[in-house]
Amino acid sequence: MGREGSGGDPVSVKSAPYYWLECDGCGAKADYGDFSAMSDEGSAVDCALDSEWTTDCEKHHCPRCPMLARCEVCDKPAGDEAGDRDDLCQECWDKQEGAS
Ligand SMILES: [Zn+2]
Ligand SMILES: [Zn+2]
Repeated sequence: MGREGSGGDPVSVKSAPYYWLECDGCGAKADYGDFSAMSDEGSAVDCALDSEWTTDCEKHHCPRCPMLARCEVCDKPAGDEAGDRDDLCQECWDKQEGAS
């Protein structure tokens, strides 16, 4: 008949913002073991970095994607395969190579 059945549940569950890291390379979600997310952004990043994630301070990559690094000279993202350039960006690496 004409009975409304919606909106009557007495729930008091509240949702809070949760944070997790998502790989900028493949979109994989960080694995926090027993947790699916962290309650603050700092922990979400730190915990992921503890489990082999890498960052250049702009992007984050999971362990399966190429390592990210920040240039030790100019502090900018060092780009792909920075490990081959002692964690320098291409620009600083070229300068260093040209100087030596
Ligand atoms: Zn990835
Ligand atoms: Zn640099």
